Order: sequence, then C-alpha cells, then structure tokens
Amino acid sequence: MSRPTSFTKEEVAKHSSANDLWIIVDSVVYDLTKFSLVHPGGRSILLEHDTAGKDATEAFFSLHRQEVLHKPQYSRFAIGLVEGGTVILGPHGQADLSEVPYGEPMGIQYHSPYYKESHKEFQLAMRKFVREVVYPDAQVREESGKPPSQSVLTAMAEMNIIGMRLGPGKHLAGRILMGGIVKPEEYDLFHECIIWQELAKTHARGYNDGLGAGTSIGLPPVLNFGTETLKNAIVEDILSGKKSICLAVSEAFAGSDVAGIRCLARPVENGWIVNGTKKWITNGTFAHYFTVACRTDDGKIVALVLPRQKGVSTRLIHTSYSPSAGTAFVEFNNVFVPNENQLGAGRDGLHVILGNFNHERFVVIAWSIGCQRAIVEECLRYITQRTVFGKPLSSQSVIRAKLAAMISRTESCQSWLESIIFQMQNMDYNQQASHLAGPIALLKMQTTRFAQDTARDAVQIFGGRGLTKSGMGKFIEHFHRTLLIDT
Ligand SMILES: Cc1cc2nc3c(=O)[nH]c(=O)nc-3n(C[C@H](O)[C@H](O)[C@H](O)COP(=O)(O)OP(=O)(O)OC[C@H]3O[C@@H](n4cnc5c(N)ncnc54)[C@H](O)[C@@H]3O)c2cc1C
Repeated sequence: MSRPTSFTKEEVAKHSSANDLWIIVDSVVYDLTKFSLVHPGGRSILLEHDTAGKDATEAFFSLHRQEVLHKPQYSRFAIGLVEGGTVILGPHGQADLSEVPYGEPMGIQYHSPYYKESHKEFQLAMRKFVREVVYPDAQVREESGKPPSQSVLTAMAEMNIIGMRLGPGKHLAGRILMGGIVKPEEYDLFHECIIWQELAKTHARGYNDGLGAGTSIGLPPVLNFGTETLKNAIVEDILSGKKSICLAVSEAFAGSDVAGIRCLARPVENGWIVNGTKKWITNGTFAHYFTVACRTDDGKIVALVLPRQKGVSTRLIHTSYSPSAGTAFVEFNNVFVPNENQLGAGRDGLHVILGNFNHERFVVIAWSIGCQRAIVEECLRYITQRTVFGKPLSSQSVIRAKLAAMISRTESCQSWLESIIFQMQNMDYNQQASHLAGPIALLKMQTTRFAQDTARDAVQIFGGRGLTKSGMGKFIEHFHRTLLIDT
C-alpha cells in the first residue's frame, strides 16, 4: 500500500456482497473479494456474519494472530485507510522492547545490579538480529525439518554469536562482538543469557538446536582440553560457521549414567581405534566433527574428536521436535583417531565430559525461562483478544489466576538465574564445580518443572487452539510438545 487512499465507512459499506467484499481491520480497508474464495476459515464467515462492508476488527483479532496482517500474501489486499481512523497495531514484535507486561526481564527494563548499559544495547541488537535473520528461517525450517540455512549461520558468525554462545573466554579475544557493542574482555554470562533468551522468541525448539547446539556443547571441551594442533585445525572453521561439531556421549546403553558407556577406544600406535554407537546426538546428521566419550580396555574413559570420515555413519532419529536439529544415531566402525585429537591427558575423559555440564545446564535454564516469558506474552495478548460469554477472556478470574502463576514462575526463575550467574562470574572453574553444580542443577529442575505447569496453563487458556499446529495457538502447541526436551 504505497499511496494510502481514504474511504468513509459509508463507502466501505457499499462493498458487502460475494462479488465485491471489503472489510475494515484496525482502520485499514481490505478488498477480500478474491481472497474470500480461499479464506481458510470459510467464505460464509465473511459474508453471513455481519462482516462484509463492516469494521471487523474485534472479530478478526479474536480469531487471528496479529502478524497475519503483515504477511505479504495478506497485506496486499489492503487498499486504503478508513477516514479519520488510526492504525493502532504495528507489525507484531517490531517494538524494541515488549509493550506487554512482564514481556522483559525486570532488570533489563528498569534497574539492576547486574545489567549495564552494554547489556541493554546488546539485547536490542540481538533482538533485531533474531527478528530479521533468524525468525523467518526458523519458522520455515522448524516445519520443513531442514537444517538451518547456511546464510543464518554465516550471519551469526559475522556477529560472533557462535563464539559468544560458548561463554566468555580466550576464544573471543580480538573478535568484534555484535558489531562492537561489547568488547571481548567485557563480555559476560549476562550477555550470553540474553542471546539464549532472545533466540527463545523464535518458538522453534528443534531449529534452534539445529543452529549449532552441538557446537555449544561439543566445542568447549576442545577449547578447554584440546591440543594446539587440534585447535588450530578445527576451531576457526567452526566459529566462522563453515563447519560444525557435536557432542556424542549418550548411547542406547547409557545416558544419565555417563560412566556406563560402551563405545570402545582401543589404543594403537599414535592413536586409537574407535568402535561403537551413540544415540540422540544433536546435529549428528550433519556435523563435521564428533566430540566422543569412549570406554578404554581398562574401564576408564577417553574423550576423542573424530572428523566425519569413512567408518562414521549417521542416521536421523525422529523426536518430539523438528528434524531440523539433526538428532542422530551414530555408528563408528574401526575409525582411527590420532593422539593429537585426544582431549585431556591420560584416561580422564570423564572429567572432560562432566566439565561441560554446568554451562550446558545454565543454557537450558536461560532458554527455558526465555520460552516461558514468550508464552506468558502470547497468553497476555490472547486473553485480551478472545471474547467468551460476551466478555474478554481476561475478565475471568480463573484465567487471571493462571497468568499470575505463570508470571510468578518465570520471574522467580529469572531472579534465581541472575543470582547464580553473578556467582559463576565471581568463581573460577573449580569453585564453580564445588559450589554451584548443585544450585544450577536444582534451578534447572525447578525451571523445567515450571515450564510444564506453564505449558499446561497456556493450553488451557488457548483451548483448542493450544493443541493446533497453526494459527493463534501454534506457539503454545509447540512449547507444550517440545518442552520435555529441556527437562
Ligand atoms: C532430543 C535429544 C537430544 C539429545 N542430544 C544429545 C547430545 O547432543 N549428546 C548426547 O550425548 N546425548 C544427547 N541426548 C541424550 C540425553 O543426554 C539422554 O537422553 C539423557 O542423558 C538421559 O539418558 P537416557 O535417555 O539413557 O535415560 P536413562 O539414563 O536410562 O534414565 C531413564 C530415566 O531414569 C532417570 N534416572 C537416571 N538415573 C537415575 C537415578 N540415579 N535416580 C533416579 N532417576 C534416575 C532419568 O532421569 C530418566 O528419567 C539427547 C536426547 C534427546 C532426547
């Protein structure tokens, strides 16, 4: 609609038949004559429900997501504005900060001992990046099941988001982070928390794991325990988004009980020969490298990095979320691994693998809280849009009580997380291992249990739409279906 045209309500009212059908939504006039034939909700709803030629704003918003209006395939039906009207709703999610109550962590929005100006600026930049680069690809690929587009990974690498998702550290030295908003030496876990919580707004759990979750858990052991030869060979390609790595610990035989794995590494001259299988390996279907936990003949564990090569085969495992994550069953058949690809000295691979878990749990917590906040936002929007028994859903006290509980859960977990992050930032690795492994695990338990309560409440609020993969409740359905992966 390059040159807005103005119509009076009386003019619009003249177009109320099947062959000439206009409506008004949010002060914009739409000519739906052609579209009415293919309207997913049926043609009769436009013709026979006192909609044609009228202001259908209220009816529209009780049945549609706001962003529908801004999709090109629908916005092209806009022919002008109603005289004297004001368009109230901009494109969904375009505001810098959410206008929905509790849509932002309080500390970022107002005052906080943790967040500085750089965090606030960083959040807005990340939000813009997610909205413009990640979200469109995520929505398409979560559904198609294809891995994330290379263009998104390349754009993430340009901002150094791939590296930043591994936490602060030497690997960021000399890099320009988020276009220079934060210096590598100032980058901290609060910035990283922001990255995960902004990505959560894509409502695409499988896609987001496809977007380098394997690297986030598979590369830190290389950075912390890898030989210089190995690091020189693979790290830069991974941080620049050209290649990817995954973490292969779990097997059909052992998941929680990491020490019970059976994949065997036999020592040979200058290295190891690996034989065995791994199950549920995120990004395994497309990763170039595998950080693998293996048992040795004397019952110890070694961690080795295997490049994809002859003898390595992977196949997709279908899980609750999108195949976009590339969750794999992996087989190693007589794969030779040189000594320089061993992580850590001796046979202390268990230490190498367990050393990852605090950060991984922190990521899951940040992500899950981000998802819960996004679900609260969805619900708050919906209860003002949906009318039941002649009143907005928001006027029902049972519904308001559900929202109050959802908000309380999200805010309490966010506050506990911020307190733990502050502790993490003031402890070295060994102190964290001694003092924080417990609190981090407890918070992960608490957060992911709360996620289940919040998903159940959200489905209840959305009714049938909360169990429908398209339309207004699609993000609720998605969260309800996929949240147990975090648990
Ligand atoms: C989508 C997805 C992605 C994954 N990605 C990866 C990956 O990238 N890399 C990787 O290595 N693994 C990955 N995993 C595997 C995941 O880490 C394991 O599924 C998890 O560790 C649990 O192991 P398990 O499934 O063998 O369950 P089990 O260990 O058999 O446990 C079964 C149940 O018993 C409980 N349990 C276990 N021990 C105890 C105990 N001592 N006391 C009480 N209860 C107990 C567990 O909590 C669980 O509920 C992924 C799994 C999924 C589903």
